[in-house]
Amino acid sequence: MTMTALLLLVMVAHCIAVPMPGDETDKRLQAEKYLSRFYHLPAGLLGARKSSDVLQTKLKEMQAFFNLKVTGKLDAETFDTMKLPRCGAPDVGEYNVSPRKLKWPNNNLTFRIENFTPDMKKADVERAIRQAFNVWASVTPLTFKRLHSGIADIMISFAARDHGDFNSFDGPNGLLAHAYAPGKGIGGDTHFDEDENWTKESNDYNLFLVATHEFGHALGLEHSREAGSLMFPTYSYSPGFPLSEDDIDGIQELYAQGEPKYLEVGTTLTLEPDVSTVQQPIDSIMWKYGTNLVVDWDPSGHTYFGSFRGRTTLDPRTLRLDINRLTLADSGQFSVETNHRGVGTYEVKVIKPPPTPSIKTQPLVCEFTCALKCTADTQDLGPVSYEWKEDEGEWTKGDALKNISSSDTPEKFSCRLRTPVRTSEASIPKDNPLYKPPDGLTFGDIFGLRIGILCGVAVIAVITVISLVKCRPGDVELGK
Ligand SMILES: [Zn+2]
Ligand SMILES: [Zn+2]
Repeated sequence: MTMTALLLLVMVAHCIAVPMPGDETDKRLQAEKYLSRFYHLPAGLLGARKSSDVLQTKLKEMQAFFNLKVTGKLDAETFDTMKLPRCGAPDVGEYNVSPRKLKWPNNNLTFRIENFTPDMKKADVERAIRQAFNVWASVTPLTFKRLHSGIADIMISFAARDHGDFNSFDGPNGLLAHAYAPGKGIGGDTHFDEDENWTKESNDYNLFLVATHEFGHALGLEHSREAGSLMFPTYSYSPGFPLSEDDIDGIQELYAQGEPKYLEVGTTLTLEPDVSTVQQPIDSIMWKYGTNLVVDWDPSGHTYFGSFRGRTTLDPRTLRLDINRLTLADSGQFSVETNHRGVGTYEVKVIKPPPTPSIKTQPLVCEFTCALKCTADTQDLGPVSYEWKEDEGEWTKGDALKNISSSDTPEKFSCRLRTPVRTSEASIPKDNPLYKPPDGLTFGDIFGLRIGILCGVAVIAVITVISLVKCRPGDVELGK
């Protein structure tokens, strides 16, 4: 990405701000400090000569994280990376054995800006913070409500050096900010180093970008090893939407999008956000489909956009959105913002009505066992499940394939499809190819009959022979 630019910038900043270390011991001490802060190098070993094994392991860990040459030595590349301006959160989890996945138990969070930096206009700070929350709200079901007093989930402040959390800042550059993982008390709280110059531009440290990164921590994300991702530990400026796929996957793993809403082609989609979390009065509403606008409302009027024109209605009091005559192309993510704040995200899947299936035999000629297949075009139906019925019995859940054998007694089988919206019509009942109807002879019947007849003949023959043998002497006696 902008790593080269960043590196140059940082090297310049570095040369001005941080004097080069006098000697190797000084360098080593700085490296140990860095590794104990971000890689949990045991603090008791700081400066001790015998710590070299642990130090080497931690150096390798850090080199691997930043995709540097893994040497285990404090080479120039490694030392320079340690000098990059960065986030104060560690790069490796505190509990390596079973990393905790911390997240907020509910999706409606509060935040409070406790103080402001003199570097920027108050309104610009507020905008940067709001936009940073909007970034996360746009890819999750999370909402963020601002409080002006009391305790919020995420308390935001600007502070320099020691600021009461045993996690002091370090003057200009170096550490820029830190945030605590979700939880009670200090959990979620986000601190910005007041010794930095905060801006809304590309120079120095862009507050919006650093805030978005820190709120990632406040929501439960850890640092990413992907240099292009927002959750990478070092700062770099780039304009545009700051999240990479890696960031989005990470946050959606913690805060899954709600179950998708399934609707059939031609029907009406109704989305009703929770208006109780919305700050009144509402002075703007924006419904989006992906990144495209659906409707943009403000008290002076509103506009519907693109294919949504002519079939969409917005109720500005409740934020309710209705879209008629849905098509397959309307599948996707809808989101709503009011007063420039994300209020809700909805995954919508438009599907076709389920077709009536038919049953085919596999293989076509069925002897002792075979399978019945419930056949239908299942494209654009969403997740489909199958149900089977024997004769006039109950419908039971099954698969597309149903194995049958000659021990199955029903005369007929039927199947139907179930989509997330409804069940299809039942298929035309299929005769059980292994069924022995009373008024017809199948191959199996004939085969069985033959054996039966043969057996019968054999039995009769045996009985006859036995009775002949038994009767002879009697006849002789009688004849006497
Ligand atoms: Zn961070
Ligand atoms: Zn702090």
